[in-house]
Amino acid sequence: LVQSSKEAIALENKHGAHNYHPLPVVLSKGDGVFMWDVEGKKYYDFLSAYSAVNQGHCHPRIVGALKEQAEQLTLTSRAFYNDVLGPYERFVTEYFGFDKVLPMNTGAEAVETAIKIARKWGYEKKGVEENESKIIVFDQNFHGRTTTIISFSSDQDARRNFGPFTEGFIKIPYNDTAALEEALKIDNVVGVLIEPIQGEAGVNVPATDFMKEVARLCKESNVLFMADEIQTGIGRTGSLLAVCGECDCAGHCERKSSYARPDMLILGKAISGGVYPVSAVLADDHIMEVITPGTHGSTFGGNPVAGAVAMAALEVIRDEKLTQNARKLGEIFRERMNQFIETTELVTLVRGRGLLNAIVINDKPSSSTAWDICVKLKDNGLLAKPTHGNIIRFAPPLVMTEEQLHECCDIIEKTIREF
Ligand code: PLP
Repeated sequence: LVQSSKEAIALENKHGAHNYHPLPVVLSKGDGVFMWDVEGKKYYDFLSAYSAVNQGHCHPRIVGALKEQAEQLTLTSRAFYNDVLGPYERFVTEYFGFDKVLPMNTGAEAVETAIKIARKWGYEKKGVEENESKIIVFDQNFHGRTTTIISFSSDQDARRNFGPFTEGFIKIPYNDTAALEEALKIDNVVGVLIEPIQGEAGVNVPATDFMKEVARLCKESNVLFMADEIQTGIGRTGSLLAVCGECDCAGHCERKSSYARPDMLILGKAISGGVYPVSAVLADDHIMEVITPGTHGSTFGGNPVAGAVAMAALEVIRDEKLTQNARKLGEIFRERMNQFIETTELVTLVRGRGLLNAIVINDKPSSSTAWDICVKLKDNGLLAKPTHGNIIRFAPPLVMTEEQLHECCDIIEKTIREF
């Protein structure tokens, strides 16, 4: 192993593809809301691996489930049954209130899966003419990095020189009910793929009733409402899912009026607490039944380690009331930041829901100011990352205490004041 941060960075630079631009910090240990670098410096994590580590780093219950299952059976492929998948499928479908789940590994795979299901549903259930199906997506979306997904990205860096692209997507403005109504009039639309809050776009929160409108309009048009909750789901926004809206029912959303129930729920990241790659698409029978043997699959999808880890990770969310904590701490965070930005020219806006928040830096998106602030935050013991140039996302693990949150706000305020 490496002896210093410098050595680790040099090795990555020399031997790894340069597909990321990480903050210059090399981490070697994590526990709860903290991470430590190779030299032993301690940091508050204010990113949670893009909201995968909602349960905190190395949660003993989740790591325990991983170890126990890893010693028993790791992979059978789906050529055979395994004794964890069935119990996991029952657990996860009851937890989120859908008939069936299709297990995959990464977020992008789950999004691809949902797209395939929507298209097949369109041809077989809705009677759309073969190869003519269309899916509505939104400006500034982020759903992953596969060729099909980048086909409808707004990010030119993500697309340039990766064509030819997959057809069949209609892109419209986010948070615009009229535009959606118009697009739904186009022939052969089978689905609407949407992030309930656009995380990568800079924590873009739509109007309170927008997701309810999406659900209603999809239903009226016999089109599948596909919610990508990979970043927003599993407690992050102060409700179990961001489509739960303002309610705090954590898992029993169907009883609440603000719940915009999707036809397909796409999950990843925190479904494993960041311990193992696990993703999932959930839907009811009348949709999922278009998937038959041979039509879709994955060697690792639904493996016993993934099932054991995901059950533990979801139990932790419920048992430790992390959804409720995210809601409470999110309010405190935004209140403090809103007071603070009155006193500085450098930050123009704070926005977010639960513990998925962002501040907008008063500079051009092309400037390096947000990056430079993140470097200073790192020096002061807090790790966050800019998204989209002049926006800094703040998403700590949901196991944070109120006292720790105040300490983090102190670090952020001090860093920006001294900038
Ligand atoms: N969808 C959303 C909303 C995401 O935030 C992400 C990752 O950031 C993805 C999909 C892709 O997930 P993965 O990186 O696991 O493929």
